[in-house]
Amino acid sequence: MSIDTVITGGTVVTAEAMFEGAIAIDDGTIVGVGDEDAFPDADERIDAGGNLVLPGVVDPHTHLAGYNSIDSYETGTAAAAVGGVTSLLTFAWQGWDDGEWDDRGTLTGAVERHRDGAAPLVDCGVHPVITQESPAVFEELATLVDDGVTSFKLFTTDDIRLSNGFIGEVFRRLADIGAVGMVHTEEYSVCEQRTDVVKSEPGGESPSAYPRSRPDYAEAMSAGSVARLAVAADAKYYGVHTTSAAAADAIAEVQTDGSNVRAETCTHYTTLTEEVYERLGNRAIMSPPLRSSRDIDAIFDRLRDGTLSVVSTDHVPLPRERKEGGPWWESAFGINSLQTSLPVFHDVAVNERGLSYPTLVQLMCRNPARTFGLSRKGRIEPGADADLVIFDPNETYTITAERNYSNADYSVYEGRTVTGQVKRTFVRGTLVADDGDVVAEPGHGTFLRREVPDWR
Ligand SMILES: [Zn+2]
Repeated sequence: MSIDTVITGGTVVTAEAMFEGAIAIDDGTIVGVGDEDAFPDADERIDAGGNLVLPGVVDPHTHLAGYNSIDSYETGTAAAAVGGVTSLLTFAWQGWDDGEWDDRGTLTGAVERHRDGAAPLVDCGVHPVITQESPAVFEELATLVDDGVTSFKLFTTDDIRLSNGFIGEVFRRLADIGAVGMVHTEEYSVCEQRTDVVKSEPGGESPSAYPRSRPDYAEAMSAGSVARLAVAADAKYYGVHTTSAAAADAIAEVQTDGSNVRAETCTHYTTLTEEVYERLGNRAIMSPPLRSSRDIDAIFDRLRDGTLSVVSTDHVPLPRERKEGGPWWESAFGINSLQTSLPVFHDVAVNERGLSYPTLVQLMCRNPARTFGLSRKGRIEPGADADLVIFDPNETYTITAERNYSNADYSVYEGRTVTGQVKRTFVRGTLVADDGDVVAEPGHGTFLRREVPDWR
C-alpha cells in the first residue's frame, strides 16, 4: 500500500504547537502527521525546504462575484491561492441580480446565482445577506441550513440596513436552527449625521476627514446593542470587522463566559492607521474607517485575550477609477487584500509584535473554520483536508499591485516591504499556487457544505 504524497523537511505549525515533522496525504486528506518513517511509501515526496508548513488560511469575509466586487470566483480565488488562502466565504446578496436590486429577491435565489457557473480555484462557501425586512426570509433559513449554508449576514447601516427590532427576530429564528448571524455594526443615524457635518466643513472633502464621518462610538453603540439582541435570543453572534478599542470593549462587555458572542478584525485594522488617508487618498476608503495607532494596540490586546478570535480580509475588489477622482463620499467603499493578508499580518503580528505562530494559525485558520462549521479545514491533523501552505518566514519582498491576481488594479500595501512569503499552496493535496504563480485550473475548488457549528 502506498499513499499519494508526503511533505517533509518543514516545521509544522498547528494551533497548539510547532514541530519538525512530515505530513502524509492520500486522496486529498491528511492521513498522518509526524515521523516520515512511520508512513507508508509515497508516490510523491515534497521537500518544504526548512520552511514552515501552515494550515491554509480560512477567510470568512470576502466579496466575490456580485455587489461591489469586480472579482469573479476565478480571479478572486486565484488571488487567494497565491496568498495562502485555501477556503473562503463570500456573500450572496438577497435581491442583487447582476447589477440591479430586485425587492422580491430571495436568499435561495442569491445562493443559486453564486453557485451557477462559478469555477473557483480554492474551496468556497456563501453567507446569504438579508437585505430586506421581509418575514418571507424566515421560511428559507432552515432549508438553507440543511443545504450547508449555516450563517447569515445583516447590516445596521447603509441602504441595506435592518432595524434592531427585525434583527432581534432574525436572531430568534437563527437560534432555533443553530446558525450564525454575522453583523456589520455601525449606528446608522449617527453616521448619517456625522457624514453631513464632515461634508459641510471646510476641507471636509479630504480623505483624511473621512474617519470622523463614521466614528468609533457609532461602531461601539451598534456592536453592543446588536450583540445584546443575539444574547437575548440565545443565538450565535459574529461581529464583523471590529476596528476600534471602543467597539472591542463593547463586545467584551456582552461576551460573558459561555456566551455565543464572537468577533473578528481585519488585516488592515491591525496594520494601517488613519494617517494613510493622506498618502493613499480614496484608495484606502473602506467602512468602517481605519483608526488610530492606539486602536491598533487595543485590537492586538483583544486578539490576545480572545475577545476577537478571527482575522479576515474583507476583500472588496474595486478598480481605482471607482475610488479616485472625487471627494471621499463618491468613492466606492472597500479594499482588496486576499493576496497580501497573510504576509502583511504575519509581518506585523509575528515579526513586529511577537505573536506566536500557533496564535497566527488560531486567528487565520482554526478559529474561522470552527466558527463557521468547516470541521475539515484549518488544521493539520489526520482526517482534515490537506489544505496547506509552505511559508518562508525569512524571505523579504516588496508588495506590488502589478502582481495582483485580483481584478483590482491597486493595493493599499503597494511598496510595503514584508518579511515572510507564501511559497506554495495546496488545496486538498493539489498544488494550486507555486511561488506567486497559479498552477492549477479554475474549478479545482468546490462549494463547501458547512455544518451547524458547535461553539461550546
Ligand atoms: Zn465586507
